[in-house]
Amino acid sequence: MSDLQKNYQVIDLHCDSADMLRSGIDLRRPNPQGHVDLPRLKKGGVGIQVFAAYVPAVIPQGEAFSFAAKKLDAISVFARSDPALVLAESAGDCEAALTSGKIGILQAVENGLAIENSLDKLAELRRRKVRILTLVHSAHNAWAASCTGGEGMENGLSAFGEEVVVAMNDLGIIVDLSHSAESTFWAALKKSKKPVIASHSCAYALCAAPRNLKDDQLKALGDSGGLVGVNFFSGFLSEPYRRAWETDCADITGEGRQGAEQFRQARIPYDAPEWRDFRDRIDSRLAERLSPITVPFSLIADHIDYAVNIAGEDAVGLGSDFDGIFAAPQNTGGSDCYPLLQKELESRGYSHERIEKIFSRNFLRVLREYS
Ligand SMILES: [Zn+2]
Repeated sequence: MSDLQKNYQVIDLHCDSADMLRSGIDLRRPNPQGHVDLPRLKKGGVGIQVFAAYVPAVIPQGEAFSFAAKKLDAISVFARSDPALVLAESAGDCEAALTSGKIGILQAVENGLAIENSLDKLAELRRRKVRILTLVHSAHNAWAASCTGGEGMENGLSAFGEEVVVAMNDLGIIVDLSHSAESTFWAALKKSKKPVIASHSCAYALCAAPRNLKDDQLKALGDSGGLVGVNFFSGFLSEPYRRAWETDCADITGEGRQGAEQFRQARIPYDAPEWRDFRDRIDSRLAERLSPITVPFSLIADHIDYAVNIAGEDAVGLGSDFDGIFAAPQNTGGSDCYPLLQKELESRGYSHERIEKIFSRNFLRVLREYS
């Protein structure tokens, strides 16, 4: 296995473990309540882990940038906290991490809300070594529409949103269209002169979640020279799981929405312990209710297969969404699951070259385009 680990290092394009760091959890030690920690990153052969500073849509305007900045601080402190880790910024840094055996931490921001409608703040994120920005999250922001945001924003991107995409191209921040409405996806793709990615999404044809990508979107990502990072959330991988989640858990999700609104109105800071406890409670109730539905590990490979067939083997990567999802397929565990995925792909006849592209090379190519 050691030989394989050397050859098949992983770049995981999305995790939400910054929330763990902000809770004071030391991810250099095993963290059984989450998916990502240093021992499991090592065991899984992870060479680069993208840490996203996720900014919830409920954060009030005027607080979003500082909210993201605090998470970025926590990520960079973590990246400098152990000789096995290194903060990576460029494709060269990533290559160096991959060859030195260190684990590179690459910074992303999830939700363009973070820039507070300011291109100066976007540039400030780049100065803080952010290389990926997910344009939007679960609700529309002022300039980009979300796939789960409901009516409105039919144009997808406002005129300012188009300026943001152009500025991201110029600054070297990868345009990430996971969570984007289809209208936003096409508008951003048209405007971007550089390849675009969907860092953590799956194939809609296999699981009809609004967060997943339709065939024409997958194909367009491939045509742009970009990629999709396949997400490991059971609700995006498995159609039966998604259906049960949406139909049988309406009471729990409704309660979650109501509770979230109460917290927001009470202006309790989103990373306060009360918020985190509330979110964890909702998530564990959902996971428990859905636990009878079996989601096999092989589904991750099914989505990879599907995306390879539609978008091409140069347009697929991995975006686990670890520590941001309440359920993953059987035997996934956490960041130590990649050797199992490798085995699954090998059993389907995937060549060394193809696995290496999906596990790391495709993303490095995109990152280099933004240098
Ligand atoms: Zn996300």
